[in-house]
Amino acid sequence: MIATLFKFKGGVKPASHKDESTQAPIARAPLPSRLVVPLRQSAGGTPQPLVAAGQKVLKGERIGAPEGNFSAAIHAPTSGSVLAVEHRTLPHPSGLSALCVVIEPDGEERWIERTPVSYAAESPDALRDLLRDSGIVGLGGATFPSHLKLKPGAAGRISTLIINGAECEPWITCDDLLMRERAGEIVRGIAILRHIASADRVLVGIEDNKPQAIAAMLAATAQSGDIEVVPVPARYPAGGEKQLIRVLTGIEIPYGRFGTEFGVQCFNVGTAWSVHRAVELGEPLVSRIVTLTGNVERPGNFEVLIGTPIDELLMLAAPKAGTDRFIMGGPMMGFTLARTDLPVTKAANCILAASPSLFPPQGPEMPCIRCGACTRACPAELQPHELYWFSRAKNFGKAQEYGIFDCIECGCCAYVCPSNIRLVDYYRFAKTSMRALEREKAASDAARVRFEFRNQREEREKAEKTARLAAKTAAARQAIAGAGKPAAAAPAQVAAEPAPALPQLDEAKKALIAAAIERARAQKEGVQPKNIDNLTPEKQAEIREIEARRVKVREIAKTPPEEPV
Ligand code: SF4
Ligand code: SF4
Repeated sequence: MIATLFKFKGGVKPASHKDESTQAPIARAPLPSRLVVPLRQSAGGTPQPLVAAGQKVLKGERIGAPEGNFSAAIHAPTSGSVLAVEHRTLPHPSGLSALCVVIEPDGEERWIERTPVSYAAESPDALRDLLRDSGIVGLGGATFPSHLKLKPGAAGRISTLIINGAECEPWITCDDLLMRERAGEIVRGIAILRHIASADRVLVGIEDNKPQAIAAMLAATAQSGDIEVVPVPARYPAGGEKQLIRVLTGIEIPYGRFGTEFGVQCFNVGTAWSVHRAVELGEPLVSRIVTLTGNVERPGNFEVLIGTPIDELLMLAAPKAGTDRFIMGGPMMGFTLARTDLPVTKAANCILAASPSLFPPQGPEMPCIRCGACTRACPAELQPHELYWFSRAKNFGKAQEYGIFDCIECGCCAYVCPSNIRLVDYYRFAKTSMRALEREKAASDAARVRFEFRNQREEREKAEKTARLAAKTAAARQAIAGAGKPAAAAPAQVAAEPAPALPQLDEAKKALIAAAIERARAQKEGVQPKNIDNLTPEKQAEIREIEARRVKVREIAKTPPEEPV
């Protein structure tokens, strides 16, 4: 079947600068002095470290366990010793740091035991788990875990598989070289992806400015017959996932929706290559192809271990004098690296040395003249100048209303803007602010729910305590009431038992109390000591006198008081 091509709106045609880095075959970068492997290298959660400082690791050994099913595992790129598990700065526009495993290579490149799998005999679920545990993520730059993209969506099945070999961004050639040199391995990976997805149709989209890659892929797919290699017009951003799906199938994927919901899914050629290595060679994702280009002496493509410090890698290309910054990615969607001692990650498709002669400094920003050039260039059919105004005014509600989250940050609008407005920077600022606000709102909602829950718990505990006390009091009252009843009122089986010891003790107690009362009464009534005869006569006289006074006082006390006049 010959694929019908559809057009996407907008786009631009910047100078491609592909030839500079396609003159030499892919070379293997040497082992660096140390590797810094970030544990977070994909969308989803952060893998948990499985190693500690001082531990020996083998090449391909798992050093980060995927968090649930939402991220992909991380592996040691070579054999050696773990020097540290600590936070290091990531090569990311945010400049944030994350937990990394620092490995000192032993130079032996000793692999774990690799277990190839015959994919045809495996279920899609088992293969998805294998991809997750092999650390397979999208190598086009988005690094979305591939096992998640292969889950059937609302459409129930992925009927069309798109393989992205477009590589539309200027200067980057890693996919081009991979297709030229390793087309057979890519096609084997495509077969595995197709088996997992049960796809009826496979389309490989390659920009028509890569004739050698197209020829190599046509040759590699000649035997398979039903994989269509489709040259697509070279127009940036034809390699954007949504744009390529649109060009090859006519399907529009709206913002926030996934291709699987429409029965279509897209994978980069580099991802297909790594899928083949993971399944059929038993090798997890520990390296990728990186383009080194721009203002360098020896531009080219290198197979690089994940975690290699960029400054060590750059020595292979030898940056020329005049280089004023390094960009990770291409000039349209990449970002300037804050430092070069950061590691290569699974997202790093290109390191571009920039100089004022290659990338003349942009002139100062001038006011928007509402020329509409940005709107005509926007492949997402947005109104970039309106988004600019709303982002600049921090009117985030309006920016959202005008579809800012549909913006793929391709940079076409800024590329054509005659006023030199850094439009994408404004959109990134607005999106980041909105996400931060959403996070804050989610955090305060969670705090409120916790507070209400605690209040409810305290109320419940209070009520339970009151009920327990009431029950205890009632039981005590009942016990007291029961103790005053005659023995006959007691249940039959209790009456039949021998008399309990407690009533006997009570009787003894009663006798003691009665004796004490009697003594007190006798004392009160002045009962005389029985025998005073053995006292001295003076003492006896004194006692008798005291006694006579007591009797007199008692007599007076017995006399009723006189009625008041
Ligand atoms: S291209 Fe620039 S000047 Fe023209 S409308 Fe867009 S933002 Fe304004
Ligand atoms: S960066 Fe966003 S607004 Fe600008 S052209 Fe690309 S998609 Fe449109």
